[in-house]
This record gives sequence, C-alpha cells and structure tokens, in this order.
Amino acid sequence: MGEVIFWTIIRIAVVIPILWWAEEFFHTQFWWTIGLLVIYGIIIQPAIVHYRLFKTKNKDIIESTLCSTCKHFDESAVLCMLHDKHPTTAFLPCEGIGWEPKSLDVDSEDIFSN
Ligand code: SF4
Repeated sequence: MGEVIFWTIIRIAVVIPILWWAEEFFHTQFWWTIGLLVIYGIIIQPAIVHYRLFKTKNKDIIESTLCSTCKHFDESAVLCMLHDKHPTTAFLPCEGIGWEPKSLDVDSEDIFSN
C-alpha cells in the first residue's frame, strides 16, 4: 500500500508543477477542464489501478492465511506488526507461535460495562 501512496505522491509532485508551468503558455478557456482530465488520467486513475493490483496480488494472504485472523496483522500494508515482516502464503514470520485471534481485541471493560 505504501508503494501506491509513494508513486501517487511522485506523480502529483511531477504533474502539478508541469500543469502550473503549462498554464502560463497555453491560455485557454478550457484550462480547468484540461487540468482536471490530466489530473484524473495521470494521478487518480493509475492510483486506482495500482491499488486494485495490490489487492489482487495479496488477496490470498489477506483472506486465507493464519495471519488474516491474527490481531497483529495489518491488512493495508500486508504486514505482521509483531515481527515487522511481510508474510506470504509460504512464509509466516512467527511460524504460528505469535498468533492471537482478532476477537481478543475487545477490552474486558467493554464487556462488563453493558
Ligand atoms: S504474529 Fe504470526 S500469525 Fe500473527 S500476523 Fe504475525 S506472523 Fe501472522
């Protein structure tokens, strides 16, 4: 996920100054329309496509590994926060020893306060 955000920021950092610079040379009444289309085509659409590829590529890890049911797993980064490593379908950083179910995230105070 960080890669998607990183490349989106890079594209913003490149496209916005170019649009700013180009606006001074190409005065047209359609400038805002052209600018918005360029922003959508070069920044937003690639970010959406990149995010979908990320989700597809990591679907098995997010949905069907032991990590997917563990409270230490960060789905947005596909990261084991306990070991600071990326699990795969063939590699479990804790080898199953550090697994804790997500359902234990509820505080005991929450249970008894109702
Ligand atoms: S502690 Fe183990 S099961 Fe939990 S996310 Fe990390 S590697 Fe996966």
